[in-house]
Amino acid sequence: MKKIIYKTDQQIESIRESNLMVAKAHEQVAMAMKPGVKTIDLDKIAKEYIQDNGGIPSFLDYHGFPNTLCISVNDVVVHGIPSDYEIKEGDIVSVDCGVELNGFHGDSAFTYAIGKVEQETWNLMKATRESLYKAIEVAIHGNRLGDIGFAVENHVKQRGYTVVRRMTGHGVGLELHESPTVNNYGKRGRGKKLRNGLTIAIEPMINMGVEDIYIDSDDGWTARTTDGKPSAHYELSIAVKNGKADILSTFKYIEEAIKKNDYISSP
Ligand code: MG
Ligand code: MG
Repeated sequence: MKKIIYKTDQQIESIRESNLMVAKAHEQVAMAMKPGVKTIDLDKIAKEYIQDNGGIPSFLDYHGFPNTLCISVNDVVVHGIPSDYEIKEGDIVSVDCGVELNGFHGDSAFTYAIGKVEQETWNLMKATRESLYKAIEVAIHGNRLGDIGFAVENHVKQRGYTVVRRMTGHGVGLELHESPTVNNYGKRGRGKKLRNGLTIAIEPMINMGVEDIYIDSDDGWTARTTDGKPSAHYELSIAVKNGKADILSTFKYIEEAIKKNDYISSP
């Protein structure tokens, strides 16, 4: 395991800038999201937006990943590859985006309901999003990584959902993925201590059914639930700063897009 790179306040501001571009790329994608649109077209929108604004899509060519966005529909947990698939009413669509700007990376993901989704699917999205905020609440100086994992798992377990253990959050900033690994499960008071200057992406990936997933052998990326039930995913990058969690990403632009776009919603 590599060493954790603690960031200066100035570096944290640069990571915030990268995350701002991530958030605005998400906004562009959210505006275009509607039944019938191909996921590859959403990917193009994000790529163009990022490149037009002087950024570099962090995921593109990352370990050979072919696109700018990971777009993960329904039973796809994460790492879905944009394609000719046309999203449709009733789908849930997780969009994950990373941007490198001036040498710093931002990373954030959001799950949308397309039109009306099953109530139980909506509940899964709600619990997943809530678990992210529960985790951020405890991401404070002096707490430990286990407190973050516990906060996520405790919240979703009570509601009958399962945590995907094979996929995790991570340090973020100078690279897309840095130390430490940020599990979505854990024991309170255990694991590495959180210190000022720590920058991490917290990203619960929560399944309605069993926690087990498999990687689609056709493309080597797409992670799916083994039982075919839906999975939800929300992610924000944060810094521990002045003792508290400072959220560097924002869903503000996504929320504005949701207000304008009747086809999409989120709990
Ligand atoms: Mg991400
Ligand atoms: Mg991430």
